[in-house]
Formats: sequence, C-alpha cells, structure tokens
Amino acid sequence: MSESATETKALDRHECKVCGYVYEPKKGSSTGNIPAGTSFEELPGKWRCPVCGSPKNQFANLGSEEGPSGFQENLGYGLGVNTLTAQQRVY
Ligand SMILES: [Zn+2]
Repeated sequence: MSESATETKALDRHECKVCGYVYEPKKGSSTGNIPAGTSFEELPGKWRCPVCGSPKNQFANLGSEEGPSGFQENLGYGLGVNTLTAQQRVY
C-alpha cells in the first residue's frame, strides 16, 4: 500500500443541514470508522450523519476551522461579569 503525498488538503468542516451536526475532519467520525484527518470529500458515499442519518448531500461546507481570528470558547468565563478595567489613580 503506497499513498501518494497529498498532504495539503483543505480540511473543511461540514454541517448537517438537518440536525446541525458538524463533521470535523480533524476528529473524523466514529460512525463508519472514519479516521481523524479524513476530509469530507474523502468520506465514503454511503457515509451518513451519525446523528440523524442524512446523506452527504445534506451537508453544507462551513470552511476551514482555522479562522482569521483565533477565537476560542471561554468556557470558564460564563459568569456574565464584564469588568471594565477603569483603574483610578490613587496618590
Ligand atoms: Zn444530521
């Protein structure tokens, strides 16, 4: 088994338009034993949404995970406290 060197492939995420499940190529899919790093295009044609069972043509391309801004979910910041850093000068 020899694989050609096709390292540069766009790992675009795809969202199921039916249930909202997002296929992330970096994670692969436990359904169908899809290994991590498998692009959506490489999924077998019989692959279905693991949540609702919709076929591939029900998925919409969300684009790559790497956005322009490395914005991350701040799971530890759900307190809703917006503290303005308005420090006053105290002599
Ligand atoms: Zn679905």
